[in-house]
Amino acid sequence: MTSRSVTVLGATGSVGASTLDLIGREPDRWRVEALTANCDVDRLAVAAKAVRAKLAVVADESCYNALKDALAGTGIKAAAGKQALCDAARAPADVVVAAIVGAAGLPPTLAAVERGATVAIANKETLVCAGDVVTRAAAQSGATLLPVDSEHNAIFQVFDHAHPERVTRIIVTASGGPFRTASEAEMRAATPAQACKHPVWSMGAKISVDSATLMNKGLELIEAHHLFPVAPEQLEVIVHPQSVVHSFVEYIDGSMLAQLGTPDMRTPIGYCLAWPERMATPSARLDLAATASLTFEAPDHARFPALGLAVAAMKAGGSAPAILNAANEIAVAAFLAGEIGFLDIAAIVADTVAAVAAAPVSSLDEVVAIDGTARRVAADATARRRS
Ligand code: NDP
Repeated sequence: MTSRSVTVLGATGSVGASTLDLIGREPDRWRVEALTANCDVDRLAVAAKAVRAKLAVVADESCYNALKDALAGTGIKAAAGKQALCDAARAPADVVVAAIVGAAGLPPTLAAVERGATVAIANKETLVCAGDVVTRAAAQSGATLLPVDSEHNAIFQVFDHAHPERVTRIIVTASGGPFRTASEAEMRAATPAQACKHPVWSMGAKISVDSATLMNKGLELIEAHHLFPVAPEQLEVIVHPQSVVHSFVEYIDGSMLAQLGTPDMRTPIGYCLAWPERMATPSARLDLAATASLTFEAPDHARFPALGLAVAAMKAGGSAPAILNAANEIAVAAFLAGEIGFLDIAAIVADTVAAVAAAPVSSLDEVVAIDGTARRVAADATARRRS
């Protein structure tokens, strides 16, 4: 692979760590322009020194002095604040990895897209909240969106981009999460630790809870709707507990193409970092004989209502997905803080999408406004359910 420059937004998170692991294995091939975090100064400073980044940015301005002190004498510039985050995203780099969690990642990811960057997008909430705004900006600027999410990366690899009309269905696989076989009573009593104990993937707390409610799969359907030219009716979910097949694309002749691999985010991240080339990754190779069997089952919409809520938001379009996402972020944060029960998450999302009217959205400002309204309504719904 040729040498490249890279910026990692959300460098201190799970996807960020996997990205830096790959970069650290071939340091001569990478020039790291900028690494960003919210406020985890210790981890950010260690990472910035390890990969000799030119710039480190914390979104939270109150963390600036600590970052400056941690980088003193290294020659690495420090910056802070939301504007600095967008400036870092917009600055030239061959590839920008968008790995901030939540709608907070939207402005910097959009800034990179508006610059015409190649953006490796893990931050699915950006596409869920503002998919139309982001894809329109990409079409105008010539930006390339490469999906990091393992399912979308799989679809990207087997999708006939030149002939999308030949695709009949996209089937997104789901592990089923830690509560795939749990009773409703067990789910009602589930703790944050249990919800975050994913059976296959090791991920950040928010996406782990989303995987447990299956909201993650709903967000992924919306993400797929924006990344690939298919109608909502062409998108399906199948539960596949082994997480070996990362998704399927079905064609008009009945052929189904899939991408397989061990569940290690370094495979899809490496695909995006090297695109359109390929790079070696240390991901374990798939041992098919040891895997023995691949199983598939339909999702249980009764125990996992979040999936249906997300499908409804996708079909409604406009600001509906942004409202769903904002409510989910508020509810998941309250669940992780021990304030509400696991089943309250989907209930709060349902209350919020019922209370906030969806409308067309065409700009970042409109998305930010509806996101704020939905967060306030969801916070009220959360307060009513607080135990
Ligand atoms: P983590 O929670 O592990 O990391 C989140 C990152 O975002 C951290 O660097 C964090 O900084 C930063 N951050 C958090 N809040 C803000 C904010 N307000 N402003 C700026 N930066 C912020 O998340 P993951 O790595 O698990 O997930 C990142 C994204 O990738 C999510 O959208 C997720 O859905 C998606 N994804 C993740 C996968 C995984 O395997 N983890 C797989 C597929 C998709 P700090 O450390 O300072 O808080």
